Amino acid sequence: MIKVVVVGGGWSGCAAALSAAKAGAQVLLFERTDLLLGTGLVGGIFRNNGRYTAAEEAIAMGGGDLFVAMDANSRHRGVSFPGHQHASFYDVATMEPLVKKILQNYGVEIKTKTRIVDVVKYGKKLQGLMLDGGEVVKADAFVDSTGTAGPMGNCLTYGNGCAMCIIRCPSFGPRVSVTAKADIKEIMGRKDDGSIGAMSGSCKLNKDSLSKELKDKLDSDGVVVLEIPESIRKSGVLGKKACTQYALAEYARNLILLDTGHAKMMTPFFPLEDLRTIPGLERARYEDPYAGGIGNSMRYLGIAPCDQTLKVDGVDNLFCAGEKSAVLVGHTEAVATGLLSGHNAVRYCLDMQYLTLPNTLATGDFIEFVQAKMQTEDGMRVRYTFSGSIYFERMKELALYSTSRSEVKDRVAQTGLTDVYNGCLV
Ligand SMILES: Cc1cc2nc3c(=O)[nH]c(=O)nc-3n(C[C@H](O)[C@H](O)[C@H](O)COP(=O)(O)OP(=O)(O)OC[C@H]3O[C@@H](n4cnc5c(N)ncnc54)[C@H](O)[C@@H]3O)c2cc1C
Repeated sequence: MIKVVVVGGGWSGCAAALSAAKAGAQVLLFERTDLLLGTGLVGGIFRNNGRYTAAEEAIAMGGGDLFVAMDANSRHRGVSFPGHQHASFYDVATMEPLVKKILQNYGVEIKTKTRIVDVVKYGKKLQGLMLDGGEVVKADAFVDSTGTAGPMGNCLTYGNGCAMCIIRCPSFGPRVSVTAKADIKEIMGRKDDGSIGAMSGSCKLNKDSLSKELKDKLDSDGVVVLEIPESIRKSGVLGKKACTQYALAEYARNLILLDTGHAKMMTPFFPLEDLRTIPGLERARYEDPYAGGIGNSMRYLGIAPCDQTLKVDGVDNLFCAGEKSAVLVGHTEAVATGLLSGHNAVRYCLDMQYLTLPNTLATGDFIEFVQAKMQTEDGMRVRYTFSGSIYFERMKELALYSTSRSEVKDRVAQTGLTDVYNGCLV
């Protein structure tokens, strides 16, 4: 039986493990912390703007299990908030066990609290990976889905220091990139001003620390918009954000709270003493990152060079997914690339032609467009997403954006890729 090892259990790694298992491989998924989902443990927004189309494409291609689980576990659906339509918010507190169960049902072996620290490479091929205990695990193909968040040294150097985020570097050890360990030079994303990395764009407040009125409104509507008094508005924060789809003027003038289980606050950080001067937030307390008053995690500090099949340049049997594969942002984007990389890892093992998604699909066009943009200096200062910024504009211009399930299904059928992720290749 062919064996695929996936490193990193965020949304992209979970999707890669799923598609590789569906394609018939024996799959082993390593995650350094005690939980899957990575930064998805504190996210929650999906199906907003063009992410709706991308989710439907994945479903039509037979890789929809994770979106179906998010849908089933949503606290709110069809929510509008500034710049965003028809968003759903999955419950961040209860999502992880559901995803774990799905992967286990497909036979994926999940090893949490296991960190990959090195690779065994021969020529242009990876032979195995070294775990932090020194054991070497061999496989036929590998997926690097280790993300780009942290570790602490990067947050200290490029951000405001460790803000104690969900990545939990001090507890589980720093993120280690398989690609970097394979001696491949990684690419770094940049902020608007050209400085390195980008700061995660939201923090979460404990809902019980809000006033009863705010909490009730958040529970019923899913969204609350609070005007920030001019004296405590933060200038320059928007340009630092990882999520350029929220870098709109409304987000500088207002605090936008979304109900993902926590009160997700759409700003990278906000000094606690200022926050508590806003009516309804007098008792506010951060839930993620714990020091959300001073900063947030830094990301995009280690991206693998790869092509549209998501094979890493310079290594024959290494694929990449999610933030590791491009300056992209989002759970949907992570799942869409994860599905392709896990599937292509199996095709590598079977000596089959790799799957490239055509640009008549939003996902195919997205991967091609972002890869091209990343060749330019300016292109590295943008984070790409189906949900906003320049890529959503392009989706609309090219008529790739659709919220019609049947239309997306037909489009996928026209490419001949219906259920492509469901078929066993072995
Ligand atoms: C605070 C915050 C809020 C966000 N909110 C949203 C949102 O609402 N909606 C949205 O669409 N997107 C959101 N995002 C962005 C989104 O979460 C990410 O873009 C996407 O989920 C990235 O997934 P990934 O799998 O590529 O990486 P990650 O989520 O970073 O996962 C990488 C995983 O790899 C593991 N790992 C790293 N190194 C190793 C190793 N050597 N061995 C084993 N395991 C390793 C890590 O522990 C981690 O679990 C948010 C991000 C943050 C930080």
